Amino acid sequence: MIRELLKYANVPGAISFGGGTPDPDTFPRQELSQIAAEIVEKEYKYTLQYSVTEGDPELVKQILLLLEKIYGLHGLSAENILITVGSQQALELVGKVLIDPGDYVMVGDPEYLGALSAYRMREPQFVVVNFEEDGPDMQMVQQRIEELEESGQIRNLKFIYIVSNFQNPSGITTSVEKRKALLEIAQRYDLMIVEDDPYGVLRFEGEHLPSIMKLGGIERVILLNTFSKILCPGLRIGIVVADKPIIRKLVLAKQGTDLCSPSLTMRLAARYLERYDVLQQIKPSIELYRQKKEAMIKALEKNFGDIKGAKWTNPDGGLFIWFTLPELYNTMEMFEFAEKNKVFYIPGEAFRPNDQPSSSMRMSFCLPPIEKIYEGVERLRDAFEKYRASKGL
Ligand code: PMP
Repeated sequence: MIRELLKYANVPGAISFGGGTPDPDTFPRQELSQIAAEIVEKEYKYTLQYSVTEGDPELVKQILLLLEKIYGLHGLSAENILITVGSQQALELVGKVLIDPGDYVMVGDPEYLGALSAYRMREPQFVVVNFEEDGPDMQMVQQRIEELEESGQIRNLKFIYIVSNFQNPSGITTSVEKRKALLEIAQRYDLMIVEDDPYGVLRFEGEHLPSIMKLGGIERVILLNTFSKILCPGLRIGIVVADKPIIRKLVLAKQGTDLCSPSLTMRLAARYLERYDVLQQIKPSIELYRQKKEAMIKALEKNFGDIKGAKWTNPDGGLFIWFTLPELYNTMEMFEFAEKNKVFYIPGEAFRPNDQPSSSMRMSFCLPPIEKIYEGVERLRDAFEKYRASKGL
């Protein structure tokens, strides 16, 4: 659906808030091209050969150091790590290993679409809980779990999936209280939590929050991360951190999928991490995203501040704002008006696990330059007016 919707997002003059891809100008292309030349020449016996399924041992070493820095996770060893082809593959493998057809998986509304499609291949039933400003609606979580317990199905609830920081699509971060509450529930009902965290490092304001894995330990939590947002997505490097028996199962599943991740990009990332402090290197990009987010918030205030019932999230990091129109509006219907104005977004419906209509949209601020952000939101207001008139509202 997204591919279809964004087909014309690249036409000349278009402004797209649709795609969630990082700004290519933030990629360290000189550093990477130099390392790439070196490792093809000097390390060809590794880089041009098959690797092991678990991932490049040199990269695993660097990842263990990085996990300590980002999350304060100590005491992990190589057996707790699997390197995947992007964290998208990790989602698919988690589905393969943990879900049997008919099982239950708890997800948010809205939720990261790629996770929903990865899991759907395993034919689960989604147990859906609303997202509030500070994470999942915990009353709803409890209620859904009690329902499963009463119907004798709780054993088939395989895990709770959550993007803990600056969720895609809503930009919402789950509070520490809710992280702890989720862990308590996971403990009580013997559930796993799959914590997906591609955006946590992209925090431009406020304090980093402890990850669910840090709070709950490796026995309860499978943590997914990726280099897509902190380095570049083209490397296609994802990371799974989990208890050893789970990693072993995931390794078997990955063997059946692709034998191993590409040796060349794994070694490229390893040597990059050895030479540069990636967390320092991305600071200018984070500052750029902060400015772009501010621009989008200002533009929304200016153009939609007068619309009663219109609201938007104001995230402290990540790449997305969740913009909600008053209830009577449907952002899928409005899309054709936006398209005519050459401004693009992703209708909220795409992120609803049960495909219901939505008055929200995902607005990504990472790609357009700041002046285009202002212009794009103005075009959106104009599209909204035309849509409103067409509905007679
Ligand atoms: N999880 C979430 C929440 C995402 O937003 C994305 C990508 N946008 C992914 C996983 C997958 O990313 P990748 O495969 O590039 O690591």
